[in-house]
Amino acid sequence: MKLVLATSNKGKVREIKAMCEDFEVIPYTELIDEFEIIEDADTFKDNALLKAHAVFDALNDDSIVVLADDSGISVEVLDGAPGIYSARYGGDGATDKDNLHTLMQNIKAKSVDESPAFYTAAMAIVTKNSERTVHGWMYGTALTQAQGEGGFGYDPMFIPLGYDKTLGELDDATKRKLSHRSKALSLSRKIFKTL
Ligand code: IMP
Repeated sequence: MKLVLATSNKGKVREIKAMCEDFEVIPYTELIDEFEIIEDADTFKDNALLKAHAVFDALNDDSIVVLADDSGISVEVLDGAPGIYSARYGGDGATDKDNLHTLMQNIKAKSVDESPAFYTAAMAIVTKNSERTVHGWMYGTALTQAQGEGGFGYDPMFIPLGYDKTLGELDDATKRKLSHRSKALSLSRKIFKTL
């Protein structure tokens, strides 16, 4: 099966490819030019659907399966922020590093060194005749100091429940066992079998 990813995020592409070695996985940007998708829905799920449909329509190929991942981190002391705004938390044009530092600063501003937090991944699978969505979550602790260089995005400030190292310090295989993305992808794989 040819699975087209509705993302150009290198971290997401790397993780999804590693979890789908039995499929041909292609970021849509290898097939057509990257275009802006305005993610203005109120939930991870609706943003994932919006991305999957935008890419499906742009590809103009009824035989493909499109998978979109909309994900982010929610921090308890920030009342769930940044949530669906994780990709733009540091402002327009913010890099992953800017977002990471903004989030650590905002937690510090609450006069704490850490806070319970969780990642969410919503995945939308769109074909010519169907749309499906699934979710995965990973719980843990958000820190105010970055540790490690592994993973991407907020990983250097996130310690998964049951561990004492951040996802920046743990290896890719460990993240694969635990992550919101792998949980959502394992549900997605059940859907792929029915297509
Ligand atoms: P999206 O492209 O709108 O789904 O943006 C997701 C944002 O959430 C990314 O830019 C990352 O900053 C963050 N994010 C999502 N999943 C992860 C992860 O597994 N590790 C670290 N950051 C993540």
